[in-house]
Amino acid sequence: MLVAAVAGYALTAIPGARPAGSSALIDIWLQNGILVGACLVVLLRALFVPAGRTAWTLIGSGLALYTAGNILYFGYLQFQTVIPTPSVADVPWLCSYPCLYGGLVALVRSRVGVRDWRLWLDGLLAVAGISAVASIWLHFLLGGRSSAVLADVVSMAYPVGDLVQLMIIAGACALLGSRVDRALGYLAIGMVLFAVADTLYTIRIAENTYQPGTPLDQIWTVAAVLMAAAALRPEAARTETRSYGWAGLVIPTLFTISSLTVLVVATAHPLPVETTVLATATLGFSLGRAVGTFREVQHLAISRTEARTDELTGLGNRRQLQEVVSDRIAQLEVDQQLAVMLIDLDRFKEVNDAHGHTVGDALLVEVGARLSVILRRDDLLVRLGGDEFAVVLPDAGADEALMVAERMLGSLQEPFVIELIVLHIDASIGIAVCPDVSNSFSGLLHGADKAMYEAKLNGLGTAVFEADDNDGVGARRQLIHELRTAISDNQLVLHYQPQVSLRTGRTTGVEALVRWNHPERGLLYPDMFIPEAERYGVMRSLTTAVLALGLDQARVWRDAGTPVPVAVNVSAANLADPDLPNQIAAMLAVRGLDGTSLVIEVTETILMNDTTRALAVLNGLCALNIRISIDDYGTGYSSLARLRDLPIHELKLDRSFVADLHYGSRTAAIVESTVQLAHSLGLSLVAEGIETDEALQLLTAMNCDIGQGYYLGRPSATPSLDVRITT
Ligand code: C2E
Ligand code: CA
Ligand code: CA
Repeated sequence: MLVAAVAGYALTAIPGARPAGSSALIDIWLQNGILVGACLVVLLRALFVPAGRTAWTLIGSGLALYTAGNILYFGYLQFQTVIPTPSVADVPWLCSYPCLYGGLVALVRSRVGVRDWRLWLDGLLAVAGISAVASIWLHFLLGGRSSAVLADVVSMAYPVGDLVQLMIIAGACALLGSRVDRALGYLAIGMVLFAVADTLYTIRIAENTYQPGTPLDQIWTVAAVLMAAAALRPEAARTETRSYGWAGLVIPTLFTISSLTVLVVATAHPLPVETTVLATATLGFSLGRAVGTFREVQHLAISRTEARTDELTGLGNRRQLQEVVSDRIAQLEVDQQLAVMLIDLDRFKEVNDAHGHTVGDALLVEVGARLSVILRRDDLLVRLGGDEFAVVLPDAGADEALMVAERMLGSLQEPFVIELIVLHIDASIGIAVCPDVSNSFSGLLHGADKAMYEAKLNGLGTAVFEADDNDGVGARRQLIHELRTAISDNQLVLHYQPQVSLRTGRTTGVEALVRWNHPERGLLYPDMFIPEAERYGVMRSLTTAVLALGLDQARVWRDAGTPVPVAVNVSAANLADPDLPNQIAAMLAVRGLDGTSLVIEVTETILMNDTTRALAVLNGLCALNIRISIDDYGTGYSSLARLRDLPIHELKLDRSFVADLHYGSRTAAIVESTVQLAHSLGLSLVAEGIETDEALQLLTAMNCDIGQGYYLGRPSATPSLDVRITT
């Protein structure tokens, strides 16, 4: 209704739309009606909304007093044509200023925490700055007149009052910076409009050019309605600190510049003393603010790092861990994983008790240093406190985490020498993978903690947290425990199965298949322990053992004059180990062999899951002249197009295809086209699981390159290398 009234009122300003001279209906009733309406809105808000009640009561009262002054003034006009200065109307008019000031200040205070002294400094700066400029204006306005007479004092009170109002608004804007909300914005614009209208009015009255019904009259009503609109906005939240954006700097900068200008001008033209003083004060505040901001930024930077750093080791702390993990989880894309590892030192307390805290602390620093060497740049190592560390591996699943864990345990196994004391320590590592375990920091940490506890309790070294952790767990732990011993006690043996060229009929290689010569349970086949070894991070040591055995045997065959390359199977964890190529290179060198003595068999699925990391390892192997073979080909979902981009040499057709192979069957067609595809990509094709003569004949006819299977030779510790096919 108020807006409509203002619009209607505005229409009356159109020339000819109203009777000449003053009209009581328009100039008194309509104008003051709008003002009264605005007062009511503000006061009702103060009455019904508890938040910001003081501020709005003051503003409402200010508006009411102003309106009262208006009404008195018009009341006067009814009876006499010349209104004395000062008149009764001046009392409420002048009283409205302190109310409005108080309201504005209360509103600003409710938005700013009193604690932030820089904000108040900004306010002071703005007030001083605008006062400096205003003092010049006042100086010329007064024009050296003596203001001793009451009339002069009263008539001068209005521009001064308006100026103070502007100063407070400027101060508020400087104080809140970019956080000036809509309520405050409306209010400020309303008050500025009031001041503008008052000033114009005073000038026109002084020049005797004031005419009712010009757009000037509209300004008051617009201002009042804006203030009412401000009262209708919901209460803004309090801000303890202002954002440090550029917006917050605009007003302080503006006044700093204007004060500088004032001071520069003052060197050439005489300016009032108060102007110079105010301008100097503004610059002083500005300087104070700059120093404050500098100190604060410095402090902020220091406390930021301090808050995230572990004092002893200089690594990150739990807070940083939480931040990084939460950030990473938030940024995790579909199909991406994140691994969190908890590392707890075993027997650290003993070290502390036996050698004192200084040695214990030095040990923790050393441990931190050793662990960080293993990590990549994106990984994060923190100390959680005590002898507990944590690692975040972005973009890593359980396999890769196990790999890293195994390397960490390896590096901790070497003795530490601290103050000439030789210390042996061990650690237990628990792993939890996001999103498998949880999507939250606390969930992941909890999972990793449980896994770590399991690893420690059972002497497993490493464990991955699994949700379905009930059946057969005890047996599995026992198995892993024994497997670790088995690896170091040389209980692993290899059986070699010949691979025969279907073209020449000669043995062109062997596949090494691991078996575990268990002291009590006899010979165990890989299906019984490889999956557990993969789950508990034992694959690195297991593969190392297999490689050593296989390469030793390759050397023996070479010395016997029958050199055959040995094919070794590797797991996902191995391909996640960037050190694998170096390790193999060293093993080859020690035995005087080169890469042609080795074939690495990788399953299709491994390559599909983590191509980027695996690719680096594959390229490293390739550079050593090692052949790469894709095992169990046809069981995964890899397209040949994708495989084409990988550095591979042969496809090993999964034995399920060979088992189904019969003349004229569907499988036969699939196998035949696979052979052709492989050849067109420059790859050779190995068929494994050949159990019958029929399969052998068919594969030979299809131009398959190499065959392997019970029909050609069973895996054996002492294979015969002179298998010959007679076709
Ligand atoms: P694989 O790589 O597909 O190995 C071939 C498996 O098929 C071997 O079983 C072998 O004995 C069997 N086999 C060979 N010829 C025939 C045949 O004509 N008919 C049938 N039905 N089977 C045949 P094994 O030795 O039990 O190995 C099972 C799996 O264990 C291997 O599958 C491989 O994935 C894994 N494995 C074996 N040794 C190692 C190793 O040292 N490291 C890793 N990471 N995995 C290994
Ligand atoms: Ca294989
Ligand atoms: Ca296979």
